[in-house]
Amino acid sequence: MNELAQVNRNDLELCLCALSEVLGVCRETADKGELVRRLADYLVPEFDVGVLEPDVRVGDVKAWVIVGDILLIWFGTAENDYPFRATFSRIEQGQWRIVAFEFGCPACFGETVLDGNVCPICTGIGFQNTACV
Ligand SMILES: [Zn+2]
Repeated sequence: MNELAQVNRNDLELCLCALSEVLGVCRETADKGELVRRLADYLVPEFDVGVLEPDVRVGDVKAWVIVGDILLIWFGTAENDYPFRATFSRIEQGQWRIVAFEFGCPACFGETVLDGNVCPICTGIGFQNTACV
């Protein structure tokens, strides 16, 4: 593995740990003010903690990519492998904040296509957060 690949892998691990930590805190409290305060080091300031789903436990990573200062992780849940996507933004080297937490379309499971056509349920969006429903 080259140096950049190793750095990227380290960033992935950092973000996966952050994601598990954030969801763990969500299971401890539903108080929005407390969540905002306790999760400040993990989320961008404008992030709506209401879109986090406390029942989700991170399972297998399906795919991940770093494009510039954005890191995307597609993962299944530990319970039933239902697809979710988390988006992180790098604020400085080795420092990431969650900017989006989204679930996969229940019809196409985030693939955006159903039977060879653009999915009619999500209209090809694939992933969205609970605030969009
Ligand atoms: Zn769909």
